[in-house]
Amino acid sequence: MKNPARIFCVCLWLVLLPGCMYARPASETLAGSIILPEAPHEEAPPPQPVLSAPQSVAQGDILSIRVSMQEGLLRGLAAELTDGAGKKVLSFTGFRFPAPETADAWAAVGGISSVQAPGDYGLTVSAVCEDGRRVTLSSDLRILGRAFVQEDIPLNQAMSSLRADPDPRKAVESRELWTLLTTINPSSVYHAGELCLPVAEGFRETSFFGDRRTFLYTDGGTSKSIHYGLDYATPRGTPVQAAGAGRIVMAKERVLTGFSIVIEHLPGVYSLYYHLDRLNVKEGQMVNAGERIGDSGFTGLATGPHLHWEVRAAGNAVEPKTLLRNSFIPH
Ligand SMILES: [Zn+2]
Repeated sequence: MKNPARIFCVCLWLVLLPGCMYARPASETLAGSIILPEAPHEEAPPPQPVLSAPQSVAQGDILSIRVSMQEGLLRGLAAELTDGAGKKVLSFTGFRFPAPETADAWAAVGGISSVQAPGDYGLTVSAVCEDGRRVTLSSDLRILGRAFVQEDIPLNQAMSSLRADPDPRKAVESRELWTLLTTINPSSVYHAGELCLPVAEGFRETSFFGDRRTFLYTDGGTSKSIHYGLDYATPRGTPVQAAGAGRIVMAKERVLTGFSIVIEHLPGVYSLYYHLDRLNVKEGQMVNAGERIGDSGFTGLATGPHLHWEVRAAGNAVEPKTLLRNSFIPH
């Protein structure tokens, strides 16, 4: 008996006008009864995605954003960072990740290059909903400066040749690595938390993230480069562990970086390990955080035995040490 007033009135109508069996609008007045139209059906507003993003990051920081929405109602996410002139400086793709505290959580993890100018930027996030709606969310982001070490690195004859001499293998390997580091596999969600050190505590750091380097060649020439990772002075044979869980996407010898390993942790997020003496893993293999993946060494372009450890997000190198105390995806 959803609407007793109407049922009553229809019955009254049948009694009073037995010959009139045609339909009448429900709002007609009849025999003193006022029949109100049905209340319009109240539509609930469609659910909206909610963006969570930092207000500031530093050069070389990870940039993580989260978007949450009612379960199963989001099917895509893309983020873009633009400078004050509206020029795009970074774009990164989102992915769904398991988060027990929210019904449907999506994240996107990018990296701020160490050469990105400090200043005010705009973050634009496009969410695609299951019902086809595209919702744009935006937020301001300030990029703060970071101090970097300037260093000169004299190279002996062999190192000068290794770095400066043209070698088609170096170009092929460079392209191959760049393709890999800019690949985003949306289902590769293996490690959302903090990283662990890839070597035991206590090894001296001999180079830092973002060092501005000048290589001094034996012929008097120079070239400039930026150091994208951290170097630890580890004797040959020192165990090297995976900094986080993930999939081995490269385990091979390269001209400049020697025996090298790349682990995929999240869509577009990778850690790299160079100059190894020995590889304990194969491409395609899954590893846990802390699992021994090889031994450190002195292979490739290195002036002494050490481990080079690097982290990339959306192609950009980021400060690995920040990730020892901060999760890739904040809670
Ligand atoms: Zn290094």
